[in-house]
Amino acid sequence: MTGNVFIISAASGTGKTTLVSRLVQHHSDIRVSISHTTRQPRVGEVNGKHYHFVNQETFVRLVGEGAFLEHAQVFGNYYGTSIQAVRDMCAQGFDVILEIDVQGAAQVRQSLPESVSIFILPPTLDELEQRLRERQTDSDDVIQIRLNEARQEIEQAYLFDYVVINQDLNAAEADLWHIFKANRLNQNRQKTNIEKVLQNL
Ligand code: 5GP
Repeated sequence: MTGNVFIISAASGTGKTTLVSRLVQHHSDIRVSISHTTRQPRVGEVNGKHYHFVNQETFVRLVGEGAFLEHAQVFGNYYGTSIQAVRDMCAQGFDVILEIDVQGAAQVRQSLPESVSIFILPPTLDELEQRLRERQTDSDDVIQIRLNEARQEIEQAYLFDYVVINQDLNAAEADLWHIFKANRLNQNRQKTNIEKVLQNL
């Protein structure tokens, strides 16, 4: 059976990346799509592992070549998901996670209606603010900007198929895994298996 595409979005500070990396660590049949971005690498980020870091000229060329399943500008940088990489991983039977923003999620929902979309919520906005402060990477002004952006993103949560609240990492990871599992057991996706059983009846 070929794999399916799972969109995972969340406001920054919700713990989406931690959740996704735990899920991938624990389930070898799930992969994460590595996006292209024009953003500068952060300390510790590796080209080809966290992102494909490209310059604006290359990004624009790839857009022109139709290389992206979706692409968007987020916090002033461009991000895009390679169609070919996602197609290859699905063909090999992997479920593929697209860790993308709400604009990208809207595009993928349109072009790949069979994809499954999941929005991760923080328990409360106060908790999100506290998590952003604990990171100690942003000034007060930047935290206020991020919280406003978070509010706008969270308003779009109702457009997603599933919503997972990240109050407790283990519980949220289990919720995510159940969504993947249920999707694999979905009747439409199991057609080949059902046909095989019917042939032997
Ligand atoms: P960061 O630069 O902090 O890694 O990511 C910033 C935002 O861009 C996050 O919300 C992340 O999910 C989103 N993002 C990362 N890759 C992509 C992508 O390929 N497409 C879109 N639309 N958003 C992305």
